[in-house]
Amino acid sequence: MNDCIFCKILSGDIPSTEVYSNAHVYAFRDINPKADSHILVIPRTHIESAAEINADNSELVARCFEAIAEIVRREGLSKRGFRVISNAGEGAGQTVPHLHFHVLSGSLGAF
Ligand code: AMP
Ligand code: ZN
Repeated sequence: MNDCIFCKILSGDIPSTEVYSNAHVYAFRDINPKADSHILVIPRTHIESAAEINADNSELVARCFEAIAEIVRREGLSKRGFRVISNAGEGAGQTVPHLHFHVLSGSLGAF
């Protein structure tokens, strides 16, 4: 049994506030936002972190960034700008071991 929190969000076992969804990618609001707008973008495939990207799965990263550009358009974030951050490993602050991209815009906190 996969006990990954984000896989449970993908399966609907844990609720989330959807921002964007397609066959490859899901995006939702961070439960503990560190900026005015804090969205998490994840691949539907379980990959632990950016350290696990290789030639066989790197297309998912491109899909995530295509989704990010679409989310930024929909949410009107391009004017004030945004950051994309992916923590890899506990030492870098990763708490959920499922590859994710933080999209942060406006009044950035500790990031
Ligand atoms: P990281 O610390 O880089 O692994 O980021 C994990 C992020 O997931 C944190 O910003 C958390 O606030 C967020 N998070 C954890 N559980 C949930 C959840 N159930 N729904 C939405 N965001 C979550
Ligand atoms: Zn997962």
